[in-house]
Amino acid sequence: MTGMVGFSANPSFQQFLKSPIEYLKGVGPSKGEMLRKELGIHHFEDLLFDFPFRYIDRSHIHKVRDLHSESDTVQLLGKIDHLEEIGGGRRKRLAALFSDETGSIELVWFQGVKYLKDSLVPGMTYLIFGKVNYYKGKVSIAHPEMEMVDTHSSMPQKGLQPVYRSTEKLSRRGLDSKGRRKLMESLFEKLGQTSIPETLPGYLIKKIRLQSLDKALRNIHFPNDKNHLDQAVKRLKFEELFLAQLRLLYKKALQKRILKGYLFEVVGDKFLTFYKEYLPFDLTGAQKRVVKEIRSDMGQGIQMNRLLQGDVGSGKTVVALLCLLIALDNGFQGCMMAPTEILAQQHLQSLKDLLGEMDISVALLTGSVKGKQRKEILERLASGELDILVGTHAVLEDPVIFKNLGLAVIDEQHRFGVAQRAKLWRKSRPHPPHVLVMTATPIPRTLAMTYYGDLDVSVIDELPPGRKKIETVHFYESQRPKVIDFMKKQIALGRQIYVVYPLIEESEKLDLANLQSGYEKLLQHFKPPEYQISVVHGRMTPADKDFEMNRFVEGKTHIMVATTVIEVGVNVPNASVMIIENTERFGLSQLHQLRGRVGRGADQSYCILMSGYKLSEEARLRISTMCRTNNGFEIAEVDLKLRGPGEIEGTRQSGALSFKLANLSTDGPILTTARNIASRLLGKDPELAHTENKILLDYIQAFQKTFGSWSQIS
Ligand code: ADP
Ligand code: MG
Repeated sequence: MTGMVGFSANPSFQQFLKSPIEYLKGVGPSKGEMLRKELGIHHFEDLLFDFPFRYIDRSHIHKVRDLHSESDTVQLLGKIDHLEEIGGGRRKRLAALFSDETGSIELVWFQGVKYLKDSLVPGMTYLIFGKVNYYKGKVSIAHPEMEMVDTHSSMPQKGLQPVYRSTEKLSRRGLDSKGRRKLMESLFEKLGQTSIPETLPGYLIKKIRLQSLDKALRNIHFPNDKNHLDQAVKRLKFEELFLAQLRLLYKKALQKRILKGYLFEVVGDKFLTFYKEYLPFDLTGAQKRVVKEIRSDMGQGIQMNRLLQGDVGSGKTVVALLCLLIALDNGFQGCMMAPTEILAQQHLQSLKDLLGEMDISVALLTGSVKGKQRKEILERLASGELDILVGTHAVLEDPVIFKNLGLAVIDEQHRFGVAQRAKLWRKSRPHPPHVLVMTATPIPRTLAMTYYGDLDVSVIDELPPGRKKIETVHFYESQRPKVIDFMKKQIALGRQIYVVYPLIEESEKLDLANLQSGYEKLLQHFKPPEYQISVVHGRMTPADKDFEMNRFVEGKTHIMVATTVIEVGVNVPNASVMIIENTERFGLSQLHQLRGRVGRGADQSYCILMSGYKLSEEARLRISTMCRTNNGFEIAEVDLKLRGPGEIEGTRQSGALSFKLANLSTDGPILTTARNIASRLLGKDPELAHTENKILLDYIQAFQKTFGSWSQIS
């Protein structure tokens, strides 16, 4: 929410908002302190923008008699007949018998027992709200929200009553939801007839028929009816999303105005020769489209900063190569970086395979390339004799000097930090190289728009033809013998198998023990010398890891038992089975990444999800999603719904991008509208110089002051 920043153009109102919370009628110093500590409410502003999380609708009061299906959330009006503390120690709880004229149910509390026992009054009428549990034919509600109702006066006959968050401490001091409602009333009283200044241009409000901010804020706190509330929410969500998009797009446009880059004007011999004579397959439509996007981006004289998203196996490597060839055609060198040595080696091999006999020099630089060989590579790089350098972060070290680096491709962006980016930028003069970051972590569209809204994004949303769907099944521990049989059959067919265990830092020891015992059990069924097993985990030295990994890559071992270290990028086309242990402990995107390690060759591949019997609802949904679909974007959408935007991998955390109301998993349509409008607006008035947009320019400048300068490019 805009809060302060949005009102920067209106000093007197801003001053009102910045008033310390204790100055509000009904607060005072000690409650003020508590509001600050418990809820982070420091100023009037914080109160004004701390919206109700729910509304009581008096027209929907359920009757005890009618309660039916499980996990129904209900509102009941009735009396507490009886209140009793039960059990002791950690099992202590408070139970109440609650009844309306149609029947009674039990209410229970496991926390705040003493306080509640003292404050709830048998015989009084309460309006309660909570989730109904059914257990052995008994109906109960745990931790209901309780509000004492004075049946004669305070019960409004119509309208929606706001419910605000509170804490036990605040409730003790009278600042439960009801108390907070009173504060809200005081705040609006204090505001009186003053209307809350607008934060969006008038013409925009008119054009898309939004409520004024004044109305929206009054309505979200004290809505007359559902319609007013919906309009208020719509306005406030739109504002949040619109201003965020405006900021991002404004920043992007600004960067484009100031960031000069190399102009790749021609698509020349190398590109065309490769395309016509060496490319072993037809590009998919999506590959063609992204190559076009990237090509046109590098042909503007502006430095490119582009994210290339494409599910595992979507063919990013060849796209990267085509882009590198454009750099070469324009007289520049290129480089391609991977997070690990093995991946770098594999990239080198892929590029060499693709380039075949073409006269293009490619070399590998990693930490283990040393001595004479390293010296020679550095010399060829500096002289310009070397066209493409493939490597790990070793490429960024100071002695590595390019003659003229034009394009850097970075595979798997989340391992590439700000410091590395800065180093990369220094590798080229006078301009920084174009940068193409490739990721196989699909990011839902709404997240990409928000978190990478200032980057350019290309998406390969199509797999090469003829890919077989990886068959995914869920097995319980009791079905292990079947799994072992299956593994034996696959190995007999010449295939290789991954067995992956979770590794969480907090339980690292336990996890490693788990892997160790899993490995020992496997050994009983897969005895050497007939069978060979590799083991790889995070406690091993990088050299040992590489050694074991390589044995598997070279086909010398049949099974690789590993923790999630294999997640990123390894390519062993002969591996056709992925067995995931303790599946319930993995997140969806991780499961999808792991599954992406198989299905890379011509053979039918399989993913077996092993789990215990005890599964949370969420774990079940993750597993069923994996069994249902292979589509990374679909999986990412489910992941977003389950975990919320803050937890999704590959998104940059930023306080500046947290929303009060908008929800990126459900507000896609509003976001799309907001982005389109912001983009059109900036198209017409890129510098926000028109008088009618001044309010937006003020906002952006104030935001920049609050959240720091943009000179440092992410
Ligand atoms: P990723 O996007 O996961 O990096 P790769 O670039 O490794 O995917 O490509 C996966 C496999 O698909 C490679 O063997 C590659 O040669 C092949 N491939 C890529 N594009 C196509 C295409 N258009 N048609 C057929 N095969 C393709
Ligand atoms: Mg790849």
